[in-house]
Amino acid sequence: MSADRRQCIALIGLRGCGKTTVGREVARLLGGESVDTDDVVIERAGRSIAEIFANEGEAGFRKRESEAILEVAQNPPAVISVGGGAVLQQENIEALRSVATVVWLTAPAGTLYRRISTDPTTPRSRPPLTALSGIEEVQQLLNERRPFYSRVADFQIDTAGREPKVIAEEIVRRVRGPSSPPTGQ
Ligand code: ADP
Ligand code: MG
Repeated sequence: MSADRRQCIALIGLRGCGKTTVGREVARLLGGESVDTDDVVIERAGRSIAEIFANEGEAGFRKRESEAILEVAQNPPAVISVGGGAVLQQENIEALRSVATVVWLTAPAGTLYRRISTDPTTPRSRPPLTALSGIEEVQQLLNERRPFYSRVADFQIDTAGREPKVIAEEIVRRVRGPSSPPTGQ
């Protein structure tokens, strides 16, 4: 891995794994900016993700998401958080891996479902992706996408039962390595 790639950290994983929340914490620790590509899509489109899905379908959203990822990767911030399905497209994978160390945040389906079903932003930010609903949809997406996440990520971190701040500290530690050897002994 080149020194340049270590400059940026990309967070991937299923909706509810904590990409947005942990991304902000990592950026805070690094003193940089966290860019969520969902926010870039919303800003460029002037509409919510639910509205984009309603008007243009998932395909329309995916096209906008790719444009956002390529744009953000041109001028990489400290942290990039992407949507859960971003790594299904090869051009997105290449853009992310060319600028960032890619970290996969994981949690069991039940934990993911509990988080997204209690997050007040879910109705406008997480439209249905399958004919299933509830925990069955989460389980299916996890089964479909696990091979992608696993292939794209440099490493994975289990987030269940852990505070976003603690997860962020682990990410920084693992990406940066020990900052200096212990002294005084
Ligand atoms: P994503 O961006 O991956 O969809 P979010 O960061 O938006 O995930 O988090 C989804 C919900 O889960 C939010 O309500 C957030 O506060 C909560 N959450 C995120 N990470 C954790 C965590 N480690 N422990 C408990 N709740 C979390
Ligand atoms: Mg998010």
